[in-house]
Amino acid sequence: MRKAVVTLCACLALPLSGGAALKELKPGWNLFSPQQDIELGREASAEITKEKPLVHNGRLNAYVTRLGHNLMQSPHAGNWPFEFHVVNDKNVNAFALPGGFVYVNTGAIDACENEAQLAGVLAHEMSHVNLRHGTYQITKAAPLELVSMLAGALFGRGMLGQLARAGIGLTAGSVLLRFSRTAEAEADYNGVEILADVGYNPLELAHFFEKLESKGNQGNSRLVEFLSDHPNPGNREKAIEEEVREVPRKRYVTSMTRDFPAMKDLALHIPPPEKKLPGRPSGELKEYSGRAFSMMYPSNWQVFDDSPSEVMAITPTEGVVQSSGGGTSIGYGLQAGTYRAESGTIDLEHDTQALIRQLAASNPDLRAERSEPAGVSGQRALMTTLHNRSPFPNETEVDWLVTVPRPEGLFYLIFIATQSEFERVRGVFDQMLQSVRFN
Ligand SMILES: [Zn+2]
Repeated sequence: MRKAVVTLCACLALPLSGGAALKELKPGWNLFSPQQDIELGREASAEITKEKPLVHNGRLNAYVTRLGHNLMQSPHAGNWPFEFHVVNDKNVNAFALPGGFVYVNTGAIDACENEAQLAGVLAHEMSHVNLRHGTYQITKAAPLELVSMLAGALFGRGMLGQLARAGIGLTAGSVLLRFSRTAEAEADYNGVEILADVGYNPLELAHFFEKLESKGNQGNSRLVEFLSDHPNPGNREKAIEEEVREVPRKRYVTSMTRDFPAMKDLALHIPPPEKKLPGRPSGELKEYSGRAFSMMYPSNWQVFDDSPSEVMAITPTEGVVQSSGGGTSIGYGLQAGTYRAESGTIDLEHDTQALIRQLAASNPDLRAERSEPAGVSGQRALMTTLHNRSPFPNETEVDWLVTVPRPEGLFYLIFIATQSEFERVRGVFDQMLQSVRFN
């Protein structure tokens, strides 16, 4: 009982002591209206959603949103329609778009030691929003273009497109996402005020940065993005500590819920996003008509026909991978050619094995299954499934090797895909194979 009285007295005394030394930061000169911040942020957020793998985990999303809504109680968060999203990315980073769209990576949640640190990251991002750093930087970068856009009354729809035409794009490290050191110092300062207003220990924001800096200095590549998007304004931790001394409130918590450890664990164990394999067959086929043969192939793939070498390939652009040795490998698509046996006469079984040995000489991990009889364009052929290391990192590959005896030698087709992609594409490979005609 007695304790409660003491606390009450301390609280009542707060507004009278100390508080005057704290600054109230205001947004800088800005040609955008606050409503236009929101419109621009909403457009940019729609673009980001297409590019970044967002986490759709009810518990984790609800938790981060709950922390964010609590921070919105602070007058230093302003009156923005904040949204909080979690990005499935192990890199330690967080960012905010104008108007209130806040994103935090799973890697950043994992890097926090307690709830107050995560709240600190959110409060820092919300401060970029409330101090309107994004549109302030655009205003500074291209004031003349902006004035004419605003005067043209076109503003409000397709802002991103208009900005892009003025040379201001929304890309990694763009003016919208990479802040100046001054903006960083302001976001830290205002973030501390938000944390203190709602009762989280603002020193935890300093602890978070301290740990980040020391790990970043040890060359941890997962931190590079954060430190370049949110550059250290200099003595970051010390500045926060000095400010905290000015804050009248002295009683803080590091957690307001009991959920942080479970949520950190959840963030750590969210499986990485499915790798985007660009170049999946479009569904439409078109015809390749070469000297030796013709066939149908996916219309979004390209033909690489280097006639003198008698080897050709049809692949999506992304299917050709530069190897570290300077050569190229095909990781996805089709390769075709003619193998000439030493004997001059053609023996399908024997020459197929000789070709596999030749392929294995430059693919040390290659493993061949037993060859099966097949037919290509009405002719006797063999189909051999090969397993190999993929030129795409951390992938294995499955190949169909199809061999057909022809007057000029052993004609072969190799259909190539990563193991994870093969089941998806085998129907298309089969269609391509059925369409082969010899000239
Ligand atoms: Zn920042």
